Amino acid sequence: MRQKKQTRQVRAGDLAIGGGAAVSIQSMTSLPIEQVDDTIAQIIRLKDHGAELVRLALRSVESAEYLKKIIPAVRVPLCADVHFDYRIAVAAIQAGVHKVRINPGTIGSRQGVREVVRAAKDRGVPIRVGVNSGSVDRRKFPHVTPESMVASAMEHVEILEENDFNDIVVSIKSSDIMHTIAANEIFSGQRDYPVHIGLTEAGYGLTCAVQSAVAIGHLLLEGIGDTIRVSMTGDPVDEVIVARKILESVGERKAWIRIISCPTCGRTDTSLDILSLAKEVDAEVTARFESVVKEKGRALTVAVMGCEVNGPGEAREADAGLAGIRDGKMLLFAKGEKVRVVDYHDAVPALIEEIGMILEKK
Ligand code: SF4
Repeated sequence: MRQKKQTRQVRAGDLAIGGGAAVSIQSMTSLPIEQVDDTIAQIIRLKDHGAELVRLALRSVESAEYLKKIIPAVRVPLCADVHFDYRIAVAAIQAGVHKVRINPGTIGSRQGVREVVRAAKDRGVPIRVGVNSGSVDRRKFPHVTPESMVASAMEHVEILEENDFNDIVVSIKSSDIMHTIAANEIFSGQRDYPVHIGLTEAGYGLTCAVQSAVAIGHLLLEGIGDTIRVSMTGDPVDEVIVARKILESVGERKAWIRIISCPTCGRTDTSLDILSLAKEVDAEVTARFESVVKEKGRALTVAVMGCEVNGPGEAREADAGLAGIRDGKMLLFAKGEKVRVVDYHDAVPALIEEIGMILEKK
């Protein structure tokens, strides 16, 4: 079991961050906030896929007005991302946002910081201080290193502390995995504020997923990280899905439904499309049984294998599964035992039926 670093707890709406709370998944909308209806639809999709806090970029005081329509329409805490103008942060807090992300050193003036802090205290809103490798002040810190990123974050943190404000979440991110890991290790050794971890500008697709998993997974296994974001170019729903997988992989979340599938090889009957089948099984099993297994507190493992040589054997631990044989046929098995032969095209409904019976018995 990993030993979680003990941090303070802050609350963004009903979401607890740090202090032993479950590591939460964050994402960010990719639309201008002025597109209110589309933004609401995107936030709802993000929540449905597992986002527990959603950040929106606000570029003007006027844009905070849109929050008044968005906040009541979504049932997930929202964080306003604000740069350079403290008035936007104040307006967002007054509009009811649950968290703000600002950098006090670049928000305008000391008086401006005081205004944000006052508004945040009045509403019980935490402030996230976020330093990216690209935002480090190069006049003060000519070289971007883990140490200089931490020092830069610390400057912002200390401004809030001087204002007697401690409901702080800190993020220190780089597109460099080693820098991100080292910076978070250093910071977490010095302060007990909850940390938001992730790589910044991590790219898209597989590269982003793998790199984010390495950086975030490494830190989580060290016990560092209270909330995570996978920053992925493209549909933000994908980053939520990757974030979930990372949390499941490090044991932070339970994988209620796990699909095992083999890579296929020369033994796979050419009439079988194992990739499509695995995707279909994943979607169907999740849609039909996820709430059941959660209710029963019983995880389900389902195997989709290319052949019977290693199929049932390799998936011995699976509750149920399919293994290819010849001529478009598949073997349906449960608990490593053969049940019957099914046609490839009937395989999914047969598997679903079998799983239904298994869950009924439990
Ligand atoms: S289960 Fe069969 S088809 Fe799949 S990789 Fe193993 S040997 Fe090949």
